[in-house]
Amino acid sequence: MKSHAKAVVIGGGVVGCSVLYHLAKAGWTDIMLIERSELTSGSSWHAAGGFHTLNGDPNVAKLQAYTVQLYREIEELSGQSCSLHLTGGVMMADTPERMDFLRLAHAKGRYLGMDTELITPSEAKAMFPLMDETNFVGAMWDPVEGHLDPSGTTHAYAKAARKLGAEIVLRNRVVELTQEVDGTWNVVTEQGTVKAEHVVNCGGLWAREIGRMVGVELPLLAMEHMYLLTEPMPEVEEFNKSTGREMIGVMDFKGEIYTRQERNGILLGTYEKACKPWSPVNTPWDFGHELLQPDIDRIAPSLEIGFKHFPGIEKAGIKQIINGPFTFALDGNPLVGPVQGLTNFWCACAVMAGFSQGGGVGLALSNWMVHGDPGFDVWGMDVARFGEWATLRYTNAKVRENYSRRFSIRFPNEELPAARPAQTTPLYDTMLANNAVMGDSWGLETPLWFAPKGTEPKDIVSFHRSNDFGPIGEEVRATREKVGVTEIANFAKYEVSGPGSEDFLNRLMTNRMPKTGRIVLTPMLNEFGRLIGDFTIAKAGEERFMIWSSSAAQKYHMRWFEKHLPKDGPGASQVRIHRFDQTLVGLSIAGPKSRDLLQKLVDADISTKAFRFMDFREMAVGGAPCMVNRITYTGDLGYEIWMAPAYQRLVYKAIKDAGEEFGLVDFGMRALLSMRLEKNFPTWFRELRPIYGPFEGAMDRFVKLEKNDFIGRDAAAREQAEGPKLRRVSFIVDAADADVMGDEPIWAKVGGKDYGTVEKPHGYGAQRFDTDGKEVRGSRAAEGASAVRGIVDGDWRVVGWVTSGGYAHYIKESMAQGYVPAALAADESAGLFEIEILGSRRPARINVEPPFDPSGEKMRA
Ligand SMILES: Cc1cc2nc3c(=O)[nH]c(=O)nc-3n(C[C@H](O)[C@H](O)[C@H](O)COP(=O)(O)OP(=O)(O)OC[C@H]3O[C@@H](n4cnc5c(N)ncnc54)[C@H](O)[C@@H]3O)c2cc1C
Repeated sequence: MKSHAKAVVIGGGVVGCSVLYHLAKAGWTDIMLIERSELTSGSSWHAAGGFHTLNGDPNVAKLQAYTVQLYREIEELSGQSCSLHLTGGVMMADTPERMDFLRLAHAKGRYLGMDTELITPSEAKAMFPLMDETNFVGAMWDPVEGHLDPSGTTHAYAKAARKLGAEIVLRNRVVELTQEVDGTWNVVTEQGTVKAEHVVNCGGLWAREIGRMVGVELPLLAMEHMYLLTEPMPEVEEFNKSTGREMIGVMDFKGEIYTRQERNGILLGTYEKACKPWSPVNTPWDFGHELLQPDIDRIAPSLEIGFKHFPGIEKAGIKQIINGPFTFALDGNPLVGPVQGLTNFWCACAVMAGFSQGGGVGLALSNWMVHGDPGFDVWGMDVARFGEWATLRYTNAKVRENYSRRFSIRFPNEELPAARPAQTTPLYDTMLANNAVMGDSWGLETPLWFAPKGTEPKDIVSFHRSNDFGPIGEEVRATREKVGVTEIANFAKYEVSGPGSEDFLNRLMTNRMPKTGRIVLTPMLNEFGRLIGDFTIAKAGEERFMIWSSSAAQKYHMRWFEKHLPKDGPGASQVRIHRFDQTLVGLSIAGPKSRDLLQKLVDADISTKAFRFMDFREMAVGGAPCMVNRITYTGDLGYEIWMAPAYQRLVYKAIKDAGEEFGLVDFGMRALLSMRLEKNFPTWFRELRPIYGPFEGAMDRFVKLEKNDFIGRDAAAREQAEGPKLRRVSFIVDAADADVMGDEPIWAKVGGKDYGTVEKPHGYGAQRFDTDGKEVRGSRAAEGASAVRGIVDGDWRVVGWVTSGGYAHYIKESMAQGYVPAALAADESAGLFEIEILGSRRPARINVEPPFDPSGEKMRA
């Protein structure tokens, strides 16, 4: 074993081997993988080997598609077969709601380059004759599904990596990790210490233990998982003989089960409701190539549904039940990337579908390590997406919830109950008493809407408009016409201070920093000129800035801030960044009467001239020391008021008391999001994401290319000079009783006109692939889009996708925001659009000016 390596990958499961292969392929050959036992000694060896491309997050779906396409490449390079069976598969819906979900998934596929198809239950039965099709109302066919040999696949990655120069050390456990002052890692193993620049945690079942070696508690948990194998079945053999084909894979929502052919019998796996964590606190180091005791009683309810839906399987004898553990993060997606607060410590763990996702995870992580950027929009699997609140017990509750609803559909207005309430503000009980329906916002209980007195504060979950529709309308109208108050504790808040802080922020942000007492809005870009943040920044004093942004991105942004802290130059290291989290909470008041209301609570003059739009002030509100921004996300005259939690009740009560004479109402997050639609305001992670440039995102006025050399400036200048490829636009939609949720296709009647690329970009960085899994180099790569896949219907074409939307209650219209080719957005003669909502194409029109207060008079009043 060598004593130095550029990178050490810990763990030789499918994920570790994929990471090793991708690092070697990217040109890092001084790398080694250290495995405690033999390759596949965690969960990889007993996997069912199924793979598919579908994922709730289109960006993760794209990386899954890459994984599937990669297998031929590693087979060729390694000479090792993965035993690929690309059979295709169906998802079976047994209710109209589940069919709606499939329609949505199918619609998304239009711009993702997926070839899914909605089919009838009888058509599905023709490919999987063991089902009783009368149990179902419809199905979705996906040709890119199948199964493989898990062990062969892991070895294929390993052999391919070795061929490219990587080293693999077996039967050698990593027992300790320490770091030198210069950042070098000491990887202490049973066979000696390796000095490494980078360490990657691919420890699978032991990933938590490896995290603990560096003081990190990773939010993942192993669950027991069972699948059964039947004896050979004559029906299967007969089908194979008569059609010359294998039976396809089937996923059944109702039973939370999947099934497919395995040799000449059937494999059927369950995600049972009575699920069971395995080794919830510590994973034993001596756990070897072992299976767990099957527990047929636990899966009996799922099997009962399975046998009813697939009666052909019930008759077969059960040959074996496999029970093995594998790991999940809270939302079922992997934990990938650099861990905030550490240098060169990387994660690729909690990969619950290693054979669908392992390749994409390896590619994204190797890009990140080698080129400093994943090259894709990997937010859906970024290790930074969970906060400190994701403790061991929180994780346990959430993972169990996620496992037991593995194939369940989640409605757009559905809040999941496990592990709640976790964090609450001092106003929590007051909000409940006000009949608030609460939602989870990055682990914090936040009012979504207020149910009328005497009714149960509860969402009726649906893809259509629901019981919150009327009350949200009331909240919006009262706010727009009088005044409303809402809790905004869930925003991210930071303070950047100390000598050099202004230069630091100028280097990070695209906009100029404000003068003392003023506020600016500013995007933040990566080196590729893509959007990685959107902030409100106030200059609170000399070298002191207050910053607000999206709550979910707190660790993601802290990681970026820390990485770019100045390391040299006079005074540079004195820049301090403080994340407040819930040590600073807030309330926002908005509406034409908000100034009159606030004036009753403050001694300062807050008249239009004395306290202008986009001013920042520290002042006492209702007797409590606060910071006040003259700005509101509703687009009205309004204020954001920030205070220590100890003062929040005092300020709220003062606002409520003073507001009575003005007709003050409480409003929740949903009303806020409805009002921002009427102002065409974007939201982070929906309209603004790392796959878009600032000009594509219509953030032009916040990008000051001439101010200084900020990160991403050259790329942004190029984008501006060449013209953005896409453009964010806002639509009024002629919807029926359902509004857009996000990710719906946008159609346009373009006739013979060519407006360019329609496929959603996923990659922007160092390395990209097309839908055949081939690396895209040269000009196509520079274009920032993978293969173009036009979907045409006569003169109509899919030209873009929705990012978010909903009902705009004040103007009484359904609205949507999304991206279309910039040339089309600019073409005033291009009139007709349609947006596909739940499978029905609804007329839509671009709406250039915000329908509420287009000139901004009200908010500047
Ligand atoms: C019953 C069952 C069915 C499944 N079916 C499917 C399926 O159909 N499709 C699918 O995609 N996925 C399936 N999975 C999940 C799949 O197995 C996992 O996604 C995958 O194995 C994760 O791989 P990994 O490399 O992250 O972890 P692991 O396979 O757990 O590998 C981790 C490796 O790290 C090593 N290691 C840990 N700590 C150390 C250390 N300190 N020093 C050195 N080495 C260390 C371990 O020995 C182990 O070999 C299934 C899992 C189970 C249990």
